[in-house]
Amino acid sequence: MFSLSGVSKSYDGQTVLPALDLTIDEGKVVVLVGPSGCGKSTLLRLLLGLIEPDSGTVEFRGQPMTGNIVPELRHQIGYVIQNGGLFPHLTARENVTLLASHLKWKPEQIESRVDELRELSHLPADALDRYPTQLSGGQQQRVALMRALMLDPTALLLDEPLGALDPLIRAELQKDLRDIFRSLGKTVVLVTHDIGEAAYLADEIILLRRGVIIQRGTISDLLHRPADPFVVEFISAQRNPLEEVTG
Ligand code: ADP
Ligand code: MG
Repeated sequence: MFSLSGVSKSYDGQTVLPALDLTIDEGKVVVLVGPSGCGKSTLLRLLLGLIEPDSGTVEFRGQPMTGNIVPELRHQIGYVIQNGGLFPHLTARENVTLLASHLKWKPEQIESRVDELRELSHLPADALDRYPTQLSGGQQQRVALMRALMLDPTALLLDEPLGALDPLIRAELQKDLRDIFRSLGKTVVLVTHDIGEAAYLADEIILLRRGVIIQRGTISDLLHRPADPFVVEFISAQRNPLEEVTG
């Protein structure tokens, strides 16, 4: 689905990604983890064609993510960011349907897609006609997910989609996201810095440090067959503090 070859990216002389090779297979849920600043968001933006690499190539379904074709390719990729990125002056419904309207979908087609997605994302019906500031953080993320899925993309990229939510809401959305990923079978690349969330959602985890892939595998690979001392360090730094108390 995605293929990166020799991809490098620097900002102001600072290397973020030195030379990344990466393929992401169709239908997999891949979770990117790593410390803050290691290049997770940069990598997602490259996959989406929002930024171009300094060198190397990014391909989406065998097509280079560059030039005039990018906007069209991007319609096949849904994108959700931490705070939803909803347009504040549009209602939830308008946010969700903006692109489909622009693409001249028929009103009844839009309406039935919205109904379908609202059910899938467990958004209360009365929330659709509210503005983002009138929605809770969790509801905003449900709307952002609906918007990302509106055109029925083949791939879904999520950048710390639950990062700003409190623990109970977060747990609820984690469960819903997992159900949605499973039922839709889309290719998903999700960024989090929470290893527990990664373990819960991922078919495969990719651990990055300073733009370099330290290990790629299942949670069990990372736990039981760490490829580098950094894997152990990263995981144990996030161990549940209650473990110490309860054994
Ligand atoms: P992560 O998402 O893993 O926290 P990012 O990909 O956002 O990391 O950022 C990686 C590094 O690149 C950071 O040091 C960040 O400051 C830098 N960076 C990212 N985007 C830009 C930008 N547009 N301009 C300058 N520096 C940037
Ligand atoms: Mg980030």
